[in-house]
Order: sequence, then C-alpha cells, then structure tokens
Amino acid sequence: MLDVRSMVVEKALSKKPATVKSNADRLDKIFAKHVFDREKMFRYLPKEIYDALVDVIDNDAPLDRSIANQVAAGMKAWAKELGVTHYTHWFQPLTGGTAEKHESFIEYNGKGGVLEEFSGKVLVQQEPDASSFPNGGIRNTFEARGYSAWDPTSPVFIIDDTLCIPTVFISYTGEALDYKAPLKKALHAVNVAATAVCKYFDPDVKKVVSNLGWEQEYFLVDEDLYMARPDLVLTGRTLMGHDSAKNQQMDDHYFGTIPDRVQAFMKDLEIQALELAIPCKTRHNEVAPNQFEIAPIYEETNLAVDHNMLLMSLMKRVARKHGFRVLLHEKPFAGINGSGKHNNWSLSTDTGVLLHAPAKTAEGNLQFAVFVVESLMGVYKHNGLLKASIMSASNAHRLGANEAPPAIISSFLGKQLSELLDHIEKADKKDLFDVKGKKGMKLDIPEIPELLIDNTDRNRTSPFAFTGNRFEFRAVGSEANCASAMITLNAAVAEALTNFKQRVDELIKKGEDKTAAIIEVLRQDIKTCKPIRFDGNGYSDEWKKEAAERGLDCETSCPLIFDQYLAMNSVKMFEKTNVFSLKELEARNEVKWETFTKKIQIEARVLGDLSMNHILPVATHYQSQIAKNVMSMRQIFPQEKVDVLCSRTMKIIEEIADRTHLIELGVTELVEARKKANRIENEREKAIAYHDTVCPMMDKIRYQIDKLELIVSDELWTLPKYRELLFIR
Ligand code: ADP
Ligand code: MG
Repeated sequence: MLDVRSMVVEKALSKKPATVKSNADRLDKIFAKHVFDREKMFRYLPKEIYDALVDVIDNDAPLDRSIANQVAAGMKAWAKELGVTHYTHWFQPLTGGTAEKHESFIEYNGKGGVLEEFSGKVLVQQEPDASSFPNGGIRNTFEARGYSAWDPTSPVFIIDDTLCIPTVFISYTGEALDYKAPLKKALHAVNVAATAVCKYFDPDVKKVVSNLGWEQEYFLVDEDLYMARPDLVLTGRTLMGHDSAKNQQMDDHYFGTIPDRVQAFMKDLEIQALELAIPCKTRHNEVAPNQFEIAPIYEETNLAVDHNMLLMSLMKRVARKHGFRVLLHEKPFAGINGSGKHNNWSLSTDTGVLLHAPAKTAEGNLQFAVFVVESLMGVYKHNGLLKASIMSASNAHRLGANEAPPAIISSFLGKQLSELLDHIEKADKKDLFDVKGKKGMKLDIPEIPELLIDNTDRNRTSPFAFTGNRFEFRAVGSEANCASAMITLNAAVAEALTNFKQRVDELIKKGEDKTAAIIEVLRQDIKTCKPIRFDGNGYSDEWKKEAAERGLDCETSCPLIFDQYLAMNSVKMFEKTNVFSLKELEARNEVKWETFTKKIQIEARVLGDLSMNHILPVATHYQSQIAKNVMSMRQIFPQEKVDVLCSRTMKIIEEIADRTHLIELGVTELVEARKKANRIENEREKAIAYHDTVCPMMDKIRYQIDKLELIVSDELWTLPKYRELLFIR
C-alpha cells in the first residue's frame, strides 16, 4: 500500500519560509494605502463635499444624496490610480461571513462604445437578491429584493481590482438582514444614553463612542496536511484524532519563538492589513501548538468590527500564499485549547475613556463608578442574552468545557475596584455626601491608585473581566462576527444608563441634590447587580452551583441558549433601544437554529463517511494482516505455543473487531437519529433534537476511532495525526 500520509508529511516538512520584505521603513507609506480615508477624501473631494461628508461621519448628519455623485467621482478617481476596475457593496449577512457582488465600472456611452462610470446612486444603494442569504423567513416570496446601503462611517477600501463599499443589508420591508444595521443602532443607543449621563458631570460632552479592541486567535495548519483531512476541509475541525503524546502540557508554546514560516506569514498579513488601515499591533504564539494571535490597536466599534471581518478573510488568503490554511474554528482540535476572540470594550468621550479610573477627583471617580456599575447592570440583567450573543455550534465546544470561558457570564473586577464599590455601597451616606457642605460637595470616595491601570492580577477564567480601562469580553468565538456580542452589550448598557438617568432625574425632581441623587441610585444598583460580580475560579463546580443560586443563567445547550433572544426581558430591551423588533428577533433566531442544525448535520455526515471509507477499511485491513500472521504461526508452531506467542495479537484482533463493530452500529444509529430529526418541521425543535441526540452519538463514534488510531499500524493510517498537524512548520 502506498503510504500517502507520510508523503504528505514529508512535503509539509520540506517547505521553506517565504521571503517577505520588512515594513520597517515603509510604515507611513503602507498604512491606509488601500483605504479612502480622510486624507484621500481631502485630496480627491471638493472642499464643501469633504466638509459635508465629514459632518455625516462625525456628527451623524443625514447623508444628502446630492453630494453622493461627487463623492463617487472622487472615489473613482483615486481607485483608478490603483488599477481598480470593479466595485462592490460589501456586507455582513447572517451567514457569519461577508458578501460581495462585483460590478464593473463599464457602461455604454450612447455612441456605440463604452465608458467607465461610478455614480452616486450605485455608491449609495444596491439591490442584491435577499433570498440567497439567510433571512429567517422575513423575505416574502413575492418580494425577494433586499437593499444594501452605504455606511459612510466605515471608509471604502480596495481589494485587488475592486473598490469595496461597506454597507448595511436590509429587507425590502426594512428589517435588518445583517450584523451592521443593528450594530449601528446599538451604537447610536449607547451614544445617546451615555451622553445624557455624562452631562451630569460635564455639560459640554457631545458624544460617547463605543470602542472595541479585538484579539484574534487562530491555528495554522500546513495546506497539504489540511487537504488530507476531509473533516478539516469540510467542517473546519478535526472530528477524530487521538491526542498527540506531546501537546501543550509543557507550556512551551505560549509567547514562544515564532517559527520562520509562520513569521513570514504574519509579516505578510500585517503589511496587507496595514494597507487596509487595520492598526495591527500585537502578534504572538498562543497556548496551544500551532496557535497564534493577532491584535490591532482598538478602534470605534463599527470600524473595528469591519476590520475584524476584513482581517479574517485576508488571513485566509495570505495563509494560502504561504502554504498554510488558517483555522478560525473555535475548537479545531480536541484536548488542547480552542480559539477565542477577546473583545476589549470601552466607552469614551472626546475628553477620554469613561471606564478609565481617573483617580484625580472624587467626581471623576464617581463618574467612573457610574459607568462601571451601569455596565455591570447591563451585563447582569442580560447575562443569559449575552451568552446567547456569543453562542454557536462551534463556540459551544469551548464554553463550559473547562477552558476560557465558562458557560456562565460573570464579571471580574479585581480587588481595588471591588473595594471601591463596596465602600460606596456600605459607607454611611453622610460620609459619602454631605448635603449641607459647601456647594453640596463632600465626596469621600477613596481615590483609585494608578496601579489599577496596569492591574495584572487578571482572572483568566472570567468571561467579562475589568482590565484597567476597559472590560474584556472573553467569551466571543474566534470565528464569530464581533458585532453579535457588541450589539447586545452596547444595547444592554444603553438600557441600563437610560434607566439610571430616569431614576436620578426623578430624585432631582423631588428636590434631591444632583450628586446625592446619583450616589443614591448608584448604591441601589451596586446592590442589585452584585450577583454578577465573581472573582473566583470560573471553571470550578462550586461556582456552577453558586451561580445557579445567584440566579445567573447556567444553561449549556446551544439551541436553548438562543431562547434568550426571545425572552420578554430581551425583547423589551431591544425594542426600547430600537435595535431589533420582535419580528427581526424571531427571524434571526430561526437562522440561528437552522445554522446550528446544518453545522451538526454536515459534521455527522462527514464523520459517517470517514468512518466507513477511511477508518473501517484501514482497521480491518490491518486486522486481516495480523490475523494472517497468526494463521501462519499456526503452521509453524503447535497450537499451545501459538496461544502464548500470539495472545497479544489475538487481543488486538478482537479489539479491532469490537471497536469496528461499535463504529458500524454507531454510524447506523447516527443516520437514524438524523433522519428522525430531519422530519421535525420546527427549527427550534429540530436543533434541540440534533443537540440532544446527534451530538452525543458523534462523541461515542469518535471515542472508538481514536482508540483504533492507537492500535492500527501507523503506516496504514490514512489521516494525518495530531502530532503531524500540530507540530509541522
Ligand atoms: P492582553 O492579551 O493582555 O489582554 P493585548 O495587548 O493583546 O492584551 O490586547 C489588548 C487589546 O485591548 C488591544 O486591542 C488594545 O488596543 C485594546 N484596548 C486597550 N485599551 C482599550 C480601551 N480603552 N478600550 C477598548 N480596547 C482597548
Ligand atoms: Mg486580552
């Protein structure tokens, strides 16, 4: 038998790193080279058009269609210089990826020839067919149209020969069919709510911006090895594979030396990302072998989300150039760490970050405390929903599986911040605030030492940790669109801030002093949201018990977690903040359940096929080889002697027989379970059936396969093993 696997491994081992030119002396030339940013807007647009567009971007001014033609002309002039021939509306449908449909600039010129045109009309709006994208039944069959509409707050960019225009994607009847439209609404809601609260402290504050700094984790696998693993190709993860004898137990990969081939890939990726104005800052090895991370400097949330989507597709392309495949799946390999995407989130005004402990004045600290506590209120009231916002068939492998993060949302504040909140809660009201004092001010809020900023007593087990000037939402999946988490978080915090302001205003109306009213309501909220604060070990069983007692959402089944989107509390919050209507929420949940089912369905099929086409033939082939050996031994030695000499071999023959039998049975059962689930009409019920019946069967089959991998002759095994997939450079 030709040992294809070892040929593939050898090929992978022999690859050399590509040469990539350093960007050291070119940073200013590279950065934003392929982006129509302010500097280009200024150069390519007439002054008054530039001013009008900046007003749209900075101040949410309505986009006047009359300027669109001139903006489009400026964009085209710039793009032509870079060899662009096509344009596309670039949007983020509910598939989880991005979508684009390229159009050439070509038009008839009316004189029998052609010319190149790019009008304001096509810049501003397009009508892609909505029926080809997940819409959860929103699209009426008689009206398949959907609209994509330009988002001027995220600059257009060039990929290859195409001008890409970031857009929202909505149905003919106005419902969002994407992630960007609701995200923009949530960001607007948090801006309005937070600005109103800021005005208590500084009447000049005009705008509050939500920031996001994501840290993207990923795996790299050699392309040839990847191609030899149909499960990786078709599902993005390994459905089988025994642990490598060495994996991450030595802790020698994290922050270790980056292998040359990977280093070349990273450099190349960074240069191309910088050209797209993605401000890449950090790169390093992650905990698991072949696992890495890339993180930019944080940006405004809408832009940061676009940049993350863009980076994910860029990574895939650049990886192929270097003979790698990038795995963004949350759990490509069992037994070692999976990948996440930490979402560092904060709010800031034109004067600074709101979650930054200022430590200078008592009022500054009070404002800081208000924003921390109201963020916690949002997270507390919607902890189940926040979990739903990061849940998916693939992220389910991380959540609750004893690795970051646990399947219960809680928040780590650290010692100093916890003490500050405890102090505000427990101190005698008179100590905090002396109404009769000068100008009504006597704030005995302890100053927060600067130390907090570099606070490294981090709790890695916490899904929502305060890290000095931001919260780090660690539960987001590596493959996910960050927008899902950001929509829920910003909307939830917007609701909390609005609610806070209403109660403070009521007290003020009753004659209470402003600061006294703020402290009063703050103290109530510190008490209310206490159950969400947890500084202990999020992986422990005691925490699961305690969290349930605290009333936190402890559900672990993915399809049931999605129910949170339709819980009364969530629907009200999304309606009040004007982020989602009930109809949109229902439609999106249909998509979520359907996507869950499809993913498991594909995995189950691939597992069945691989079992029958790879595993069983190889195992029985080996079995008959060694059985033949026993038979020939019989011709040489007496029976009693053969019984002794071949006792181990006989056991192996028997073990293979048992395990292959169980695999066959398992695959038959799996097919039956799928058939049964497929007959269910209701998407939610179907997803539950897949979760409850199909998933556990897959685990059982895998168990048997992984055991076979250990006993079957290495040279016969067709699928690259973990030790090869994970340690080859
Ligand atoms: P670590 O791995 O230690 O958490 P990194 O340096 O890898 O930290 O990533 C931290 C991320 O948080 C970066 O993207 C950084 O820009 C971002 N960040 C820093 N300050 C803020 C802030 N105030 N708001 C949002 N993101 C922030
Ligand atoms: Mg981090």
